[in-house]
Amino acid sequence: MTSQFVIAMLNPTIGMLFASAFFLLWTNQRGQNYILMIALSYVASSVGFLIQDVGPSFANKFERIPANVCFLVTGYLLIGGALKRYGLRIPHVLMAGIVAAGAAWQVWFVLVQPDLTARVFMVNFLLGCISLIGAVKLHPVEKRHSVDRLLFWVMVLCTLNFFLRPASIMLLAGGFTDFGSFQQSFYWTTVQFTQVMISVLFALTLMVAIALDLIAELRREANTDKLSGVLNRRGFERDAVAALGACGERRQSACLMIADLDHFKAINDAHGHAVGDRAISLFGQHLAASLQPGMIAGRIGGEEFAVLVPEAEFGAARRFAEALRADFPQKCAGRLPPSLSPSVSIGLCLAGPGVELYDLMHKADEALYHAKRLGRDQVQVFTPRESGTAATKQALAGS
Ligand code: GH3
Ligand code: MG
Ligand code: MG
Repeated sequence: MTSQFVIAMLNPTIGMLFASAFFLLWTNQRGQNYILMIALSYVASSVGFLIQDVGPSFANKFERIPANVCFLVTGYLLIGGALKRYGLRIPHVLMAGIVAAGAAWQVWFVLVQPDLTARVFMVNFLLGCISLIGAVKLHPVEKRHSVDRLLFWVMVLCTLNFFLRPASIMLLAGGFTDFGSFQQSFYWTTVQFTQVMISVLFALTLMVAIALDLIAELRREANTDKLSGVLNRRGFERDAVAALGACGERRQSACLMIADLDHFKAINDAHGHAVGDRAISLFGQHLAASLQPGMIAGRIGGEEFAVLVPEAEFGAARRFAEALRADFPQKCAGRLPPSLSPSVSIGLCLAGPGVELYDLMHKADEALYHAKRLGRDQVQVFTPRESGTAATKQALAGS
């Protein structure tokens, strides 16, 4: 085994290892097809390097045609997969056009007018174009994590590498007259080395990105209530505390409402637990569909929901609560037993800047029990007595 063979096997081996790792990740997240695209891109890269550096040599170096097509397909799948992770549309026609142009170019400069230097330039230029498309499309996307910024810069690096590498190295080392000198050249050694670096950098960045996506998904699931589809108590408290903190910093008030389904125990007793569950689910769907931007909603107990309206204008929050209550029976029509007419009572509370969530919930709860005492199926507002601030009283009076 020569040292050249060992070096030649570096890229195919690394490619297959990453392909296997991405494939394993994909088998655990079948919905994420972009991971499969990335796995396949590493397969294509491996095959390309195997054909080019390890496989048999044919007349006119014919094997370079499929090898270079594999490299172009690698770029297509890798950049396409990365774009898909961000929900971006993959420019399939453009990418496929580049691969087809590259294939035609290879055929021409292998079979019709053999020219190694032209082929090297062309394949690098086209790979640079594919990376550039990725970088340009990713540039305007909001990059929430540092890994998102890193992925963008890896694409930029990749583009620069493909555009500058052949030019600078050929200026240093001159063009190629035959394949022997090409394979032994400083250029080809540099290609193999930088290719390994880029492969590893891309793969590690994408793996971290996939891991972060998974953590975010698990966190989202841990904070979501399955039955109703809105946040669970933990998720609600976490988001509401953060939103109230931000409201306090901006010296703005906030509204909280607590909604509780009426006579729910009787629903369970008369129609069974499954029908009770359906009523909770229907109210959750109705609430989620009614939410306006900035509102935070969660199921905080059995048949009890809370909605925080940060930076609230009290009149608007009250109208929202009224509509939520009034529209509920209609949203259940045909989806619950006909003899059942569900209703909801809502307690509403407005608070000035700096209020604690616990305090706000306690007051909204008081208003809710007032609504229950007054006969249910209504919205009641917490009325500050001695403890109310002047601003709150004024806001309530004006609503
Ligand atoms: P009120 O009008 O005063 O709110 O009366 P209520 O019957 O709705 O309230 P109560 O607190 O007496 O009963 C709530 C019931 O909700 C008791 C409990 O068994 C039931 N419950 C709690 N969680 C769930 C759930 O996830 N699914 C179902 N089906 N029932 C639940
Ligand atoms: Mg109830
Ligand atoms: Mg209750």
